[in-house]
Amino acid sequence: MSLPYSPRFAYYDGKPQSSSSTSSFQTIDPATSTPLANIHTTTPSAIDSAIASAQKAFPAWSSTPAIERARILQKAAAILRSRNDELAVVETHDTGKPFSETSTVDIVTGADVLEYFANLVGGGGLNGETIQLRPNAWVYSTKNALGVCAGIGAWNYPIQIALWKSAPCLAAGNTMIYKPSEFTPLHSTLLAEIYSEAGVPPGVFNVVQGGGEVGAYLTQHPSIAKVSFTGQVSTGQKVAGSASGGLKYVTMELGGKSACIILPGADLEQAVDGAMMANFFSTGQVCTNGTRVFIPESLKPSFEKRLLEKMEYLRAGDVMDPATNFGPLVSKPHFQKVQAYIKHGVETDKATLLYGGFATPSWLSTHLNKDYQSGYWVQPTIFTDCTDDMKIVQEEIFGPVMSILTYKTIDEVVRRANDTKLGLAAGVFSNDLNQAHQVIARLEAGITWVNTWGESPAEMSVGGWKMSGVGVENGKKGLEAWVRNKSTLVDMGGEVPTVFCKL
Ligand code: NDP
Repeated sequence: MSLPYSPRFAYYDGKPQSSSSTSSFQTIDPATSTPLANIHTTTPSAIDSAIASAQKAFPAWSSTPAIERARILQKAAAILRSRNDELAVVETHDTGKPFSETSTVDIVTGADVLEYFANLVGGGGLNGETIQLRPNAWVYSTKNALGVCAGIGAWNYPIQIALWKSAPCLAAGNTMIYKPSEFTPLHSTLLAEIYSEAGVPPGVFNVVQGGGEVGAYLTQHPSIAKVSFTGQVSTGQKVAGSASGGLKYVTMELGGKSACIILPGADLEQAVDGAMMANFFSTGQVCTNGTRVFIPESLKPSFEKRLLEKMEYLRAGDVMDPATNFGPLVSKPHFQKVQAYIKHGVETDKATLLYGGFATPSWLSTHLNKDYQSGYWVQPTIFTDCTDDMKIVQEEIFGPVMSILTYKTIDEVVRRANDTKLGLAAGVFSNDLNQAHQVIARLEAGITWVNTWGESPAEMSVGGWKMSGVGVENGKKGLEAWVRNKSTLVDMGGEVPTVFCKL
């Protein structure tokens, strides 16, 4: 059967490597559950070849002047922008996210980060420092590339994640082996081709294809200097454990169960809009989602009334229709996982189902044409009267499932918001900015917002606290994660300080 997209192979030495596999699998369009392309799993010996290609490219790329690397990466960012809609269509097919979202967020925010890091290194961001110790002695330091690095991506923002990892990696002078999620691999070789077209030399950005075993092979490989990983906490623990054996550098961007706190006196419209963004954007498949919505007891009736009115603004439908803003879940296993959580919320946790639930035949036929009815759709779902001990409140669902919890005092809500092993994001909505900042200061999370939710610009360093991660991506701190420091002390005094002198 002919498929809409060409087969995907490993990409190294500056080109696709059709002989790099002995087995294959298919990537599926989640909106319709139909196959999109055959993906060829990269064999261990081909992964070794990709790593050898990256090692060969490293000396020249790392010694290319930063301004020259910047020029090449800026060109790649310009190509990404010029092909925005075409790439967005690919991401929509692969992830199920509506074109209204992929065409305005996924490629744009990836290209922004590429441009940001290119400009940063081109403008001296890799300079070290000089410290005058005494008149005839000083220390200088340099920031040095690490070597061959691995990037392992999740499926929710495929091309954005690939760019958030490869942009600072390449800008700092490293070379990369990138493994996309087996559920959303289409973007990977397109990005490799764009880098090549922009002038990134062969071997600097390489792609390997496959599932967890391919990722695991990379993390334990002795020639990999760093692993930058985005995914679930449980996988992150395995990856960090494996990388620690080789004392590799790691960045871990993991899951969350973030608190979205509506403070007393918050603007109702703003709070409802924020809670909706924090739960239903990308069909809830966003790591920073504020899925625990805390609301003062007295505001619960008005908040829920306005929320239910605004749920009409969520529009499931043809994912290519510019008016559609709610898509399916990414894959069948994920669809089954989210459905199991909704069932658990109703049957075991006994939370009140305020809105949504499973995609019933009548919901499917009202919102979707026939082709789409076999896709991985669930309804946007709201549970209320939730308590902290419920499984749907404690665990990351990674779907469009909001839990509403009420509170009485600020101390109480801060304590309950922090009562989780995860610490990725948090946010408050309030008209009292003093109180908003006081609460933010007490929240145990690495990414926080006041009166907004979800924006993550290139300048903002983002990373989780507690079990949600190690290190940060983006911003100036994001570049530091891809270099190591060398300090040199120079003494012009003419005498080496020594204790070995004649008595
Ligand atoms: P997974 O942990 O399932 O997978 C992430 C990547 O790791 C995939 O490429 C996967 O391969 C690969 N992998 C699986 N097993 C191993 C292994 N043993 N060694 C090395 N690599 C392995 O995460 P999901 O793809 O399900 O992504 C969703 C998760 O990602 C959520 O928890 C979400 O919160 C988190 N996330 C965090 C972000 C952040 O910035 N903090 C941003 C986005 C998502 P394959 O899929 O092919 O099996």
